[in-house]
Amino acid sequence: MSERAAPFHCPYCGDEDLRPNETGHGAWECAACNRAFQLKFLGLLARGVQRNERGGEAI
Ligand SMILES: [Zn+2]
Repeated sequence: MSERAAPFHCPYCGDEDLRPNETGHGAWECAACNRAFQLKFLGLLARGVQRNERGGEAI
């Protein structure tokens, strides 16, 4: 396991059956909905760290 963070749920269907995609680089595939997706770190937000009061999804 690398130091890269792994998603716990599919952002499309919410299933937990995720496996690393062959393309690597944060790519994952969902066995439930057959989607492949990629997680990418975009950088830190200019506003700094604060709580999300609306409780939205992180992904
Ligand atoms: Zn899915």
